[in-house]
Amino acid sequence: MLVRDIISTKQIRKIISVETTDNVASAAAMLSEMRIGAVIVRDSGNELDGILSERDIVRELGRRGANFLNDKVGALMTSNVKTCSPAQTCQEVMQMMTDGRFRHMPVMDDGKLVGVISIGDVVAARIKEVQFENDAMAEMLAGNI
Ligand code: AMP
Repeated sequence: MLVRDIISTKQIRKIISVETTDNVASAAAMLSEMRIGAVIVRDSGNELDGILSERDIVRELGRRGANFLNDKVGALMTSNVKTCSPAQTCQEVMQMMTDGRFRHMPVMDDGKLVGVISIGDVVAARIKEVQFENDAMAEMLAGNI
């Protein structure tokens, strides 16, 4: 299965983003309201400036207590974002997420941000794929194919 198949079956395809100058409290409110684990950071006119995940917020909370909530998103986000393309396989993306120890990936097509996928989306797609392969093998063994 390809990343483009994952994006096309996602129920919420809207890209949820904040700006580098927004404060962390408003980004956290967005994560909570939208029930997601990371937001894309992009200033107006840009495709992608960074990513801010719940991990970044928890890390800072552990270091500094709640004092950072008025800090700007730009100070906490990861700027060196690893992205994938719609043509990559879910196995490739799963490997990249495992190697990089992150659970979210923006999808870029021809320089444009076209979606965001999470490890949950990738694992669900992989389970479907494995199920399909198993069913096909069972049919073959039963002599139906
Ligand atoms: P996550 O596991 O996605 O919640 O994020 C763990 C850490 O990796 C956080 O510091 C994120 O800002 C960062 N991160 C998340 N997604 C990516 C990505 N696609 N590329 C680089 N860093 C990322």
